[in-house]
Amino acid sequence: MSAQLILHSGKEKSLLRQHPWIFSGAVAHLEGRARPGDTVDVVAANGRPLARAAWSPSSQIRARVWSFDPEEVVDHAFFKRRVAAAVARREALPELRAQQGLRLIHAESDGLPGVIADRYGDTVVVQLTSAGADKWRAAIVDSLQKATACTQIYDRSDSDVRKLEGLEPTSGWLLGADIEDERVIVENGVRMAVDIVKGHKTGFYLDQRENRRRLAELSAHKRVLNCFCYTGGFSLQALAGGAREVVSVDSSGPALLTAQRNLALNQQLDAVRAVWRDADVFDELRALRAAGELFDIVVLDPPKFAPSAAHVERASRAYKDINASGFRLLAPGGMLMTYSCSGGVGLDVFQQIVAAAARDAGRTARIVQRLQGAADHPVDLAFPEGEYLKGLLVQVD
Ligand code: SAH
Repeated sequence: MSAQLILHSGKEKSLLRQHPWIFSGAVAHLEGRARPGDTVDVVAANGRPLARAAWSPSSQIRARVWSFDPEEVVDHAFFKRRVAAAVARREALPELRAQQGLRLIHAESDGLPGVIADRYGDTVVVQLTSAGADKWRAAIVDSLQKATACTQIYDRSDSDVRKLEGLEPTSGWLLGADIEDERVIVENGVRMAVDIVKGHKTGFYLDQRENRRRLAELSAHKRVLNCFCYTGGFSLQALAGGAREVVSVDSSGPALLTAQRNLALNQQLDAVRAVWRDADVFDELRALRAAGELFDIVVLDPPKFAPSAAHVERASRAYKDINASGFRLLAPGGMLMTYSCSGGVGLDVFQQIVAAAARDAGRTARIVQRLQGAADHPVDLAFPEGEYLKGLLVQVD
């Protein structure tokens, strides 16, 4: 019999709204014994069974719900059903069907807390970030193999968030093996090398696929500045869209090398129009301003400045700083494409920051489009925390 996680009175409310996280403050006590990752029955103070969840004793998120049906058995077959359903949801969306690079499982928003799975061609890369996900590793890997018929599965569970769960980082081949760390995918007609072993996250920022396509549409004859370019995703799309010149900035030497190799993989693109700068974006934006440079489009896709709510204030200052600098570099009629992937900074707050940045820069600007993650990064309506990526396309006078 499973242990029972008894909640304090009133703390069942978020579960009744199908929110999957149970914080330490909601837990009255655990009846019975459970090891990290074990499935426990979640029970309201009045004895009402609510859900079945994975026990994470060392995390502030003390349990993550696998099923809101208190009767549902969490076993190998459960993961097979959930993984197959996540894969099927993507197949139902025409723009995702033919993608070589695709997020197959987006954690909570696919009913699988702590589970990320990205496909790059024949290879699936998994990242397991919770005790429950780690415990069911074998079932998840087997289910992914069956649902996708992929030939290789690589583990990239080396994210720092595992520490909060008391888990060691792990990485390596779970199915098959390959001497090549790199996979080449085609995104919006552009070839991109993805280093699944050493790249960020699972190797590539798949969430920006549609926004990169949008940049291509806007770029004909434009001079584009792409800040935080990583392996050149936005830069190459701008070139594919006919940009006159694309200046790309990142402080990671290896990322810039991959970006230049990516450009070389695309003979149809004019490499002469690409300029790569190994620099800190905060400094480079000021240097470009001092040199009197102007751009038609400025892209700002920084790393997560606010990993949690505690960092929001400092993050807000950093967002305002780069956005004000971005506005100052825009030629009349130019566009700022600006993002935040900080979960702690919501869309409203982000918009206020960008508005304040425009004021600081003395620019009149209007939002022409709100931007978000691609459809393979869905947001469960009951889990708004899943909406981490938000962006604005802003046009100045
Ligand atoms: N836009 C990219 C993803 C950006 S990830 C894409 O579409 O793939 C964030 C990038 O910011 C990383 O490549 C990291 O090396 C870089 N970075 C982080 N801090 C930086 C800084 N202060 N200056 C320059 N680059 C920075």
